[in-house]
Amino acid sequence: MYLLLPTSCIGCQEFQTATICQKCRKRLKDFQINRCAQCALPIAPHEKNSLCMDCLKKRPAFDATLCLDSYGGFLTEAIHSYKYQHQIAIAHGLLDAWLDIHPGRLQNGQVVDWILPIPLSQEKLHQRGFNQSWELCKIFSKKLRIKSHWKVLQRIHVEGDQASASKQERAHRLNNVFSIIPKNISLIKNKNIVLIDDVMTTGATLSVIAQLLKDFGAQSVHNWVILRTPTKSPC
Ligand SMILES: [Zn+2]
Ligand SMILES: [Zn+2]
Repeated sequence: MYLLLPTSCIGCQEFQTATICQKCRKRLKDFQINRCAQCALPIAPHEKNSLCMDCLKKRPAFDATLCLDSYGGFLTEAIHSYKYQHQIAIAHGLLDAWLDIHPGRLQNGQVVDWILPIPLSQEKLHQRGFNQSWELCKIFSKKLRIKSHWKVLQRIHVEGDQASASKQERAHRLNNVFSIIPKNISLIKNKNIVLIDDVMTTGATLSVIAQLLKDFGAQSVHNWVILRTPTKSPC
């Protein structure tokens, strides 16, 4: 019912009746042009290949990435309110915008078998009380009628400061923090999986998870992320 009342657009904060206004929807559509099909980084308009140089050099384990906008762009504030103040209504606006732009299936027309969240460690979940990725999964799952499961992937808590660790140290840690819960391994065999998250930075985490899922028999792994950092350097 609240959707019928004047509300503010999650992009530009202008008052209107939809969660995201037409002007902002148009901006998001324009944003999709000239993106790398695999990691969603910008590519030059004259580029013949649909992949960026990074992906051509070293292919990530995931098959493709779709995003809505750039991190630092006009949806960043909305993502922060969603993630840190748990404003779930924002996630509905993001889903509306998503369905305007992207289909609820894979680009090759295949159906998605599972939508999975990026897990938080138990410690982090207790601390924050909210897994932003899982909340997005639930909303997408309900609307698109695709199954979602929060107990396929798990993350182990790693002591130490990630930010101050060296690049090699971070890569080593990443390879060891995710695992698949043994009793659910059978769920992913030969399945097309979508990972949903709020922000994609370097893509390293998503690539590690995609590799893990494929090692256990997943047919394909696609990323649906709301915001993408404009470059590969960690921020
Ligand atoms: Zn707007
Ligand atoms: Zn790329």
